[in-house]
Amino acid sequence: MQRFAVLVILFSNTLGNVSLSFRTKDQHNKTSNESESSACDNCYKLSCDQWMKETTKPDYEPHWNHFMSASYQINEKIRNILEDDDQNGVIKEAQIFYRSCIDFQEQETFNFRDLKVMLALYYNKWMNNEQHIDWVEVAMGITKTFNINPILKFYINIDYKNTKQYIPYIEPGNLIFPSDLLLNTQIYQKEINAYIRWISRTLRYLFTSIPISPIKIVEFEVTLAQLMSNKVTVERNTTKHFSDRFNYNFQKSMNNILLSNIARLEDHDLVVIKHSTYLNDVLFLLNTMDRRFIANYLIWYIAKDFSRDITKYMKTLNFLIDQAVLGVEKDIPRDIKCANKVLDNFEYVVVSKYLGRYFDKNVLSDVQEMANDIHENFHMLLLNNSWLSEETKRLSLDKIKNIHFIIGFPKWISNNSAVEQYYIDIRNLSDNHLLNILTMKRFKAVKNVRLFGHYVDEALLPSNVFAVNAFYSILQNLVFIPLGLLQKPFYSAQWPKMYNYGALGSLIGHEISHSLDTTGRSKFKCQFYDNKIKQPLVTGENIADNIGLDISYQGYIESYFSKLDEVFWGNQDRKTFFMHYSQMWCEFSNNRDLFNDEHTDVEKRVNQAVTNNKYFNKIYHCKKSIKPLCKLW
Ligand SMILES: [Zn+2]
Repeated sequence: MQRFAVLVILFSNTLGNVSLSFRTKDQHNKTSNESESSACDNCYKLSCDQWMKETTKPDYEPHWNHFMSASYQINEKIRNILEDDDQNGVIKEAQIFYRSCIDFQEQETFNFRDLKVMLALYYNKWMNNEQHIDWVEVAMGITKTFNINPILKFYINIDYKNTKQYIPYIEPGNLIFPSDLLLNTQIYQKEINAYIRWISRTLRYLFTSIPISPIKIVEFEVTLAQLMSNKVTVERNTTKHFSDRFNYNFQKSMNNILLSNIARLEDHDLVVIKHSTYLNDVLFLLNTMDRRFIANYLIWYIAKDFSRDITKYMKTLNFLIDQAVLGVEKDIPRDIKCANKVLDNFEYVVVSKYLGRYFDKNVLSDVQEMANDIHENFHMLLLNNSWLSEETKRLSLDKIKNIHFIIGFPKWISNNSAVEQYYIDIRNLSDNHLLNILTMKRFKAVKNVRLFGHYVDEALLPSNVFAVNAFYSILQNLVFIPLGLLQKPFYSAQWPKMYNYGALGSLIGHEISHSLDTTGRSKFKCQFYDNKIKQPLVTGENIADNIGLDISYQGYIESYFSKLDEVFWGNQDRKTFFMHYSQMWCEFSNNRDLFNDEHTDVEKRVNQAVTNNKYFNKIYHCKKSIKPLCKLW
């Protein structure tokens, strides 16, 4: 059946309009020798120059690439869906949410008043309390109410030692400002000052009578960032053990706050603490610090989370910080922003509508088959490996064999009534945006907490279904290729399969290879960059790029698809495989360093991956490189 489906796609497309415009003009104009030598020197430049010239970056984004532009294309489709009034079920709630988001200024007076009241209530409760305040419980309460994670993060996740069950995790919270900036206040003086101004203006706007010191708030966050940057030690033990060890009753506060009315945590129940040094330090900090600082930080943390949705003035202040830190010239258009909020909150509802309108379901089996070829090839690569011990090899092969894939979205989403059931608690949203946001925040927080005590039956997705990215989940040995990635320039059902293997295929290969990251890394001795010391993660990413490209290429030439390509498209230049690989990475990058991205500069990344590929070197007749090829397997 699958083969047949594939044939149908190919056949119908050869009759339709086929666009090959994705190849750059550059490539066609140059004589083959020129393009060969420049591909060996700088494949990225060769394949991206034209795109760079023809593309303009939107004013409201700090950088621009195919991944981003693909997600804007999805956004546009989502807006179309949301503007169609002729629909029933939970999608109606999503539409109400969307409209209240766009028209948020109509409710400005009420929402501003309500936010002020809410924040003042919190603040006074903390400041006027004569007793000792349990700040861990306070942070937990904020998580449960607002689905945000100041100071500490509490959530339910798959137990890494027994991946059949869900247990609580405790780890450092999320910072508002990027930690790189907080840890280097000297270098980023300008950005830090903008941050202080933002806090100061927002809080002066929300509070008239309470003394708030924005500098103290930033100092507090700097301290948190410093504590987070200490060495990470993961520990897994019973609540009883941790309560004794940290001299804090986690069981009590989790039962009181996080799990209340949902589940109960017992003495012997397991908890994972992902950064025990941080937890220890932060508990000390919370116990000893003047409560005003902590209270101020938390108030700011909550206020910030609403800063784009209450009043025009607060939204403008938020934009000013984006401008100062990211260098953007304009704020993101409201409808785009609101459609993204809908995606965050109603992704499964939107998926089912999206599938009906914009997606050919045959694509799923097509991509699955491609993934199988690549997967099979990785398996072969390991089977032929000569330096692993027998035992390690056996275990690795076993792990590879058991990788599973989710292509596009989990199956249950195709079931309309299952989706309606999932959102059963979401009824009667109103035109009040603040209330709607609060409802959805609570909904999401509770959804996560409810996982506690359950067995892992359904996969826990590592990302939104519409993400334009690919994922490997180590806890589930799962490769997730979201719906967002199943579009040009990563994939097209209309293209020769070779293009798909070059682009999407190598991304799938990249994720598959992450399954053996940790076993292989110690054996890997190859310096990628001479003049820069990079984090180990970066090397891991480069290894994954190399393997991904290798197994996708190898997978392609050995596949049934390459035979089909020959039948339908004739003999094709295999250079296009690498061009499609390289092109998908084209990017305008301004201040890339600020984003703490584990991926290195794309140009280096692409060039490194292709020049490490033996087929690339052969096809382009590259002169033998002086440095040895970086190969793991
Ligand atoms: Zn990766």
